[in-house]
Amino acid sequence: MAAVQVGVVKESAAGERRVALTPDALARLRDAGVEVIVESSAGASAWFPDEEYAQAGASIVETERLYSTADVLLCIDQPPAERLHSGQTVVGMLAPLLNPRRMAELAAKGVTAVSLDGLPRTLTRAQSMDALTSQSSVAGYRAVLVAANAFDRFFPLLITAAGTSKPATVLVLGAGVAGLQAVGTARRLGAVVRAYDVRPASKDEVRSLGAQFIELTSVAPGAGEGGYARALTDEEQAAQAAELAEHIAKHDIVITTAQVPGRRPPLMVTAGTIKSMRAGSVIVDMAASDLGGNVEISKPGETIVTNNGVTVIGAGNLPAAMPTSASAAYARNISTLLVHMLSDGQVAIDLDDEIQHGVVITHGGSVVHEATTKLLEGTP
Ligand code: NAD
Repeated sequence: MAAVQVGVVKESAAGERRVALTPDALARLRDAGVEVIVESSAGASAWFPDEEYAQAGASIVETERLYSTADVLLCIDQPPAERLHSGQTVVGMLAPLLNPRRMAELAAKGVTAVSLDGLPRTLTRAQSMDALTSQSSVAGYRAVLVAANAFDRFFPLLITAAGTSKPATVLVLGAGVAGLQAVGTARRLGAVVRAYDVRPASKDEVRSLGAQFIELTSVAPGAGEGGYARALTDEEQAAQAAELAEHIAKHDIVITTAQVPGRRPPLMVTAGTIKSMRAGSVIVDMAASDLGGNVEISKPGETIVTNNGVTVIGAGNLPAAMPTSASAAYARNISTLLVHMLSDGQVAIDLDDEIQHGVVITHGGSVVHEATTKLLEGTP
């Protein structure tokens, strides 16, 4: 049987500079017997020129050819459905729970959709495929740089002939993958860092990075399913926000990262709390979304300066702002997953495999991913 042909898509979403496969990772796919074609200039905005893909053994093709001949398409965002055809497999971060109708459309077209964000993350052998972790890590690092750039003082303690400047104080709310990377990065810049999370395990992780952990008395710590945070009740959320307010007011920089899968991000920083912050303080809301974020007034991709001089930044697509590192990590994740799914050089869908059970969203003309099916049926 002919080798499976894998196509690398040039991303088309506004501001998206990442590419799903880098020349380094391409070599791994070729070792697995895969033929790779790359859409012309797919990696250019992440500084991977066509020549490097060609040297690694890929053919560079125009858009029409890519979509008409590739058996498998590697992407970050889903390419337009009208370009895809029956029998093709598309692998990316398809966010099926946010886009269940798009998944139904792919199923109806006979496209197999594979989404890295469905990966069972606690499975040890899936860790090298975990794009949520790799991209959150880039985002957490970048969020600190964004905050530092908007902050008009030094981060570290500086003792110079002209005097001493106090270190900046940074508070990270939500200490998961992104939050812990933000803690480490802010520490490396010399800030005094504190962090809070509702999951009990996060306390030791925060302390191991040399930051202080803030304990709240109003909300009992707790973890939910799969190692994620438990969803708080409305009363608990209000109590948490009220108790956090006094801590927030004492910090120069607040970086919020809190998410609960499948729900609106918890509101942690109210408009009232922002009024109590010092002029010159900076907030970066990494959970900012069209549904709302951790900060009452944040808007994704926008920067607001309040009347009392607080800069509130709604983070947009932070990994896309650091596309070389983000793409390199993503490419390792996606190529490892694809190799895992190959059998005799062909994509072999096996829904009994624990990893595939999580990531395969549509196959054989149907939506096969349980949580997406439930959303489409409107069942809880
Ligand atoms: P996430 O992006 O869903 O959430 C970010 C953080 O926000 C989490 O730490 C969460 O506990 C916290 N949070 C949510 N609601 C909160 C609230 N009201 N108050 C305070 N904090 C709140 O999470 P994530 O970063 O993707 O990872 C979450 C968990 O999954 C972590 O325990 C992480 O270690 C675990 N994980 C495990 C593996 C693995 O085992 N290989 C891989 C990745 C992540």
